[in-house]
Amino acid sequence: MKDKVVIITGGSSGIGKALAEEFGMNGSKILITGRNIIDLNEAVERLRKKGITVTGFQADVSREEDNRAMAAEAIRTYGRIDILINNAGITMRALFEEVELAVVKKVMDINFYGVLYATKFCLPEIIKNKGSVIGISSIAGYRGLPGRTGYSASKFALNGFLEVLRTEMLKKDVHVLTACPGFTTSNIRKRSLTKDGLLQGDSPRDENEMMTAAVCATHIYRATVKRKKIIILTAQGKLAVFLNKWFPVFMDKIVFNEMAKEPGSPLK
Ligand code: NAP
Repeated sequence: MKDKVVIITGGSSGIGKALAEEFGMNGSKILITGRNIIDLNEAVERLRKKGITVTGFQADVSREEDNRAMAAEAIRTYGRIDILINNAGITMRALFEEVELAVVKKVMDINFYGVLYATKFCLPEIIKNKGSVIGISSIAGYRGLPGRTGYSASKFALNGFLEVLRTEMLKKDVHVLTACPGFTTSNIRKRSLTKDGLLQGDSPRDENEMMTAAVCATHIYRATVKRKKIIILTAQGKLAVFLNKWFPVFMDKIVFNEMAKEPGSPLK
C-alpha cells in the first residue's frame, strides 16, 4: 500500500478515522472527507502528528458536485487515485410506521447515493491504476434490523451495487470489496436520527463491548491487500449472516428480541 493514494469518505470519526491511520501508517497517501470542518481538521492534525501524509477535504457525499470536487482534489494533490473507501454513513432508529419519510431518504442519500456518486467520479482513475473500490456496508445489509428500515435498506442496496460493480470489473482487474462490520465502537449510534430527524445523542448499546474501530480497520486493510471480495466481521455478525441464510423466519424472532432489549427501543 506504500504510496497508494487512498480516498476515505467520512474519515473524521470512527471506522473512517481508524482506516486513515491504518493505511497511512502503511505508507499510503490519504485524503479524508467529512461535513464538519472542525472534526475534519482535528483528524488531519492528529494523523499528521503520526507522520501520515494526509489532506482533509470538506465534502458531503450526498451532493453529487462535492464528489466530483473530491476526486479532482485528490488528483490535484497527489496526481492519482488508487483506492476509494466509501465509508461515510449515518443511521436512524424508529419504527417505519412512525418515521418521517425524509429521515429514510436522508439515510439513503448518504449511505447509498453517496457511494454511487463517489465511485462514479473516482472509477476512471481506479480502472487506470487497477485499484480498489471498497464499500463499508454492514451485517444490516444481510439481515434487516427492526427500527432501522432506512439503514438496512441502504446497506442492502449498497451490497447489490457492489456485487454488480465487482462483476462488471472482472476483466478490468479492479478490486471491489464489500466490507461488513458488526457492531463497532464509534459515534454512529450517538448521531443516529430519531423518527423526527433529530440526533439521538446517546448510544443505546454498550460501545465498550464492541470491536474497536482500530481492529475493524486492520481487518479491512488486510482484506484490501489480499484483494478479498467480501468480509463479514465479528462472531455475532458471522452467526447472524449464517442463520439468516438458512433460517430467515426463525431469525425474525431472534433479531426482534435482541433489538427490543436496547434501552429506549421503539419495538413493542
Ligand atoms: P461515525 O463514527 O459516526 O463516523 C461517520 C463518519 O462519516 C464521520 O466522519 C462523518 O463526518 C462522516 N459522514 C457522515 N455523513 C456524511 C456525509 N453526508 N458526507 C460526508 N461524510 C459524512 O460512524 P462509523 O460507525 O465510523 O461509520 C462508518 C461506516 O461504517 C458507516 O458506513 C457505517 O454504516 C458503517 N458501519 C458501522 C458500524 C458500527 O457499529 N459502528 C457497523 C457496521 C457498519 P461528518 O458528520 O462531519 O460528515
